[in-house]
Amino acid sequence: MMSNSPLINYTKISPNSSKPRNKPISKITIHHMAGDLTVESCGNVFSSSNRQASANYGIGTDGRVGLYVEEKDRAWTSSNAGNDNQAVTIIVANDQLGGDWHVSGKALNKLIDLCVDICNRNGITELVYTGDATGNLTRHNMFVATECPGAYLQNKFPYIEQEVNKRLTGGAMRSESLGEISAITIAYAENIICVNEGGYGSINRDDNGAVSVGKIQWHAERALSLLKSIVSKNIEKAKELLGSALFDEITSSSADWDKRVVTGDEASRLSAILLTNDGKEVQDGLVKEDIQGYIEKGKSYGLIDPGALIYFADGVNQYGTNSSLWKKIAERALEAAGDVTAMFEATKALASEYLDRRESVYKSILALKLSGGGQAQYPVRITVDGLSIRKGPGDGYPINGAITDGGVYTIVEEAQGPGAEKWGKLKSGAGWVPLDGATRL
Ligand SMILES: [Zn+2]
Repeated sequence: MMSNSPLINYTKISPNSSKPRNKPISKITIHHMAGDLTVESCGNVFSSSNRQASANYGIGTDGRVGLYVEEKDRAWTSSNAGNDNQAVTIIVANDQLGGDWHVSGKALNKLIDLCVDICNRNGITELVYTGDATGNLTRHNMFVATECPGAYLQNKFPYIEQEVNKRLTGGAMRSESLGEISAITIAYAENIICVNEGGYGSINRDDNGAVSVGKIQWHAERALSLLKSIVSKNIEKAKELLGSALFDEITSSSADWDKRVVTGDEASRLSAILLTNDGKEVQDGLVKEDIQGYIEKGKSYGLIDPGALIYFADGVNQYGTNSSLWKKIAERALEAAGDVTAMFEATKALASEYLDRRESVYKSILALKLSGGGQAQYPVRITVDGLSIRKGPGDGYPINGAITDGGVYTIVEEAQGPGAEKWGKLKSGAGWVPLDGATRL
């Protein structure tokens, strides 16, 4: 199942696409805008069918990401149907016009994050930049005479390849075990938690005895502290939207929202301030901070698997960071494989509430195909002599050796790809083999 990136800040679907793409995603093509458009303005340009152009994603100079053509569809970007049917295309804003068409550091860093995310979700195990169209990292000017992607970005292609591949070896898992929390793991967690909670303006007036508000349903005292931050951004506007009683209460140092439920009228006022630009901005910042805190907590219990950490983050967002239940779930999961499957099994053994939600979160995490995302390892015997190992799941990937000993190997992940019914990833890290050439033991 193809999905879109959780890194998206803005969506405006363009009519300029072919639906669906006729090949699986195996490439990334990077373009420049030849302009400094925000992701919103770029969306407007692509929204005209006269334009006959689009891209799957755009990145602004501020590092924000726009979605214009869903990944399941083919964007009209690179003047080459063969390429674009296989590629996710990304168009990057230039912060200087002309010359070498410079792009901002923020845009470049987000481009690398987005490439890592696209590879992770689509089973691309390595970006290969060959300088021509045989690799899976391609440029517009490989297909047609154009300046695109501009000299600055073009010179960065080997760097982009290298940075993405560093983070793909073991994917999110690697950075987690190195002690950093990757931006992508946080974005995945954010996406999953926000789907299960509310929108920016949502209010649950009486959520087990106190109000919950906003994108991840900040509860009671946390709702109050969120509202205090939003109010401080624009006092006059806040007074106007909240009315003086609610404004005075929220800004008072003695306010106690431990058991504060709200009336219908108060709910509409709170919703209005949560939906202002300041309200959204403060929520976006706090979501990231909170999720980072949840993941740190999970790591302090010993979890390292990214899928398990995302699952844990969703749980403690609902139950509170110091929930003893979630500490027990983490400990129980670590007695088994410590991955998201072990977390879900532990939940079923230890919890009695919200199991439907846990199951839907578990399934969403499995669909992300993170490394160690819960697929069991299994042994196979190789039945074909001289079976080629490929760098990725498909016969279009470069060969990285062969198996000639008819031995037993461990498969750690499966994927669809051309040339075989199914491909299996070898535990050794040597690459992928077609599973038609192997018998499961
Ligand atoms: Zn281009």
